[in-house]
Amino acid sequence: MSDFRWGLGHLSLDFVATLGARRGNPVERLGAPEDLAEWLTTAGLLGGTGPSAIPTDAQLDDARLLREATYRVLTAGRLGAAPSADDVDLINRYARGAVAALQIGPGLRVVRLATDPVAVAVTELARASVELLTGAELSRVRQCDGCSLLFLDRSRPGQRRWCSMGSCGNRRKTSRYRAKRDGVAEVPRRRPGVRLPME
Ligand SMILES: [Zn+2]
Repeated sequence: MSDFRWGLGHLSLDFVATLGARRGNPVERLGAPEDLAEWLTTAGLLGGTGPSAIPTDAQLDDARLLREATYRVLTAGRLGAAPSADDVDLINRYARGAVAALQIGPGLRVVRLATDPVAVAVTELARASVELLTGAELSRVRQCDGCSLLFLDRSRPGQRRWCSMGSCGNRRKTSRYRAKRDGVAEVPRRRPGVRLPME
């Protein structure tokens, strides 16, 4: 599955968004190691496409654990609550994981050597979480009124309600406009004669 969501303002938030619809029936977009490989590659954290770059099942578990701990600590941090010590420990542990060795390559280009590129990518994700959770931008993390994804509000007033005007913001505006035009409340309309299961 490749309907990943990008552009939420921070790598960590794009990562957290790989579990969609948290308020309803969550959608797991990292269902298989190949999904994680695709996400990491698109994020620029995984370079090659050789066999060594496909995560193991254990690494997929690692990534999901890191993601969920990040989400919970983000939520606590946004609301001014104390985060779980276990979650903080888990993120810190991954942030101490494998790193790439920087080497000078041909033409003075940097070469990143890693025996386990996926482990390095997970470390970099954990470091991104540390950076977001301990930085000033934490106070700018919002939850979208439409899709419930977390996003970074970099606008000057800091009062954004939607992850993007192009998707959630526009949908809401359009439904409000239609409701106003038709003189009806903003509720889903159904065809006459169609009975809902609960009726
Ligand atoms: Zn949204």
